[in-house]
Amino acid sequence: MQQIAVIGAGTMGNGIAHVFAQNGFKVNLIDVSAPALEKALQTIDKNLERQLSKGSITEELRQQTLQNIATFTDIPNGVKSAELVVEAATENTDLKLKIFRELDQHTAPGAILATNTSSISITSIATVTKRPEKVIGMHFMNPVPVMKLVEIINGYATTREVTDTIVTLSEKLGKVPCVVNDYPGFIANRILMPMINESIYSLYEGVAGVAEIDTVMKLGMAHPMGPLQLADFIGLDVCLSIMRVLHDGFGNPKYAPCPLLVNMVTAGYLGVKSGEGFYKYEKGSKELTVSSRFSIRN
Ligand code: NAD
Repeated sequence: MQQIAVIGAGTMGNGIAHVFAQNGFKVNLIDVSAPALEKALQTIDKNLERQLSKGSITEELRQQTLQNIATFTDIPNGVKSAELVVEAATENTDLKLKIFRELDQHTAPGAILATNTSSISITSIATVTKRPEKVIGMHFMNPVPVMKLVEIINGYATTREVTDTIVTLSEKLGKVPCVVNDYPGFIANRILMPMINESIYSLYEGVAGVAEIDTVMKLGMAHPMGPLQLADFIGLDVCLSIMRVLHDGFGNPKYAPCPLLVNMVTAGYLGVKSGEGFYKYEKGSKELTVSSRFSIRN
């Protein structure tokens, strides 16, 4: 396999394109937005510069990586020669179904169609194609060039052969693949999001403050980042939507999103991307300051 197409050039798409290109694959990076493609190339360039300055890649590899990436604003042209497509467009079910119908139409019948979705059912995405056995989840972690894990999700119809191909391919990228089955939240988010939700409940119920909850989990459990800081980093809107997927998918009240999380998202306090969540993010400041809404000690 040599020809890869990546759909969506946002946070995840640029990282996925970077990793494939750095490992010798030809990558067509596709986005409906030309500015998003421009920004993605700048991000890849900046990240390669950082790798070069640390001595983890050579100048030759930096140049080869950039040469391996071509950009497109339309799916039909971008995917026609692809042996594998990795879809990393915006997390929206209707959009993903539309993209997969298009991919099925414009790729060679043997091409594998993968999605980087965090929470949408692989089985349901597969049903809009004529090749459900070749549809699979390839869930990279953010930031893609740094994080080792690829959670590989078998849809109900995915064949063993397709899974094996994606496992081998992930290893070629220097990643550690983990194969799981397609149930709500897969494994990563099924375990991570209830932990984050429980941290928000602990804050909501006044058991402890923001800094205390994060410190207990960092120093007590050796987590590199506390759950509330991690929630801010992921985006509180993303956390809420994944909790809703778990709640709807299992019909179990244990997955009910905390009302405080719902309120914060409704009010537009989404974490790092909006400038405030559990912490306040000042431009240029590296200091972590608890939001004044939560700064009163218990
Ligand atoms: P993002 O918003 O940064 O980027 C999405 C990109 O998709 C945008 O550039 C947008 O222009 C493009 N897009 C929208 N419609 C398109 C279309 N029809 N064709 C081509 N491109 C289109 O989103 P992201 O954070 O990179 O997330 C992408 C996917 O990865 C989502 O499914 C998300 O759940 C998943 N994911 C995200 C993270 C994360 O930490 N951000 C981690 C793991 C998985």
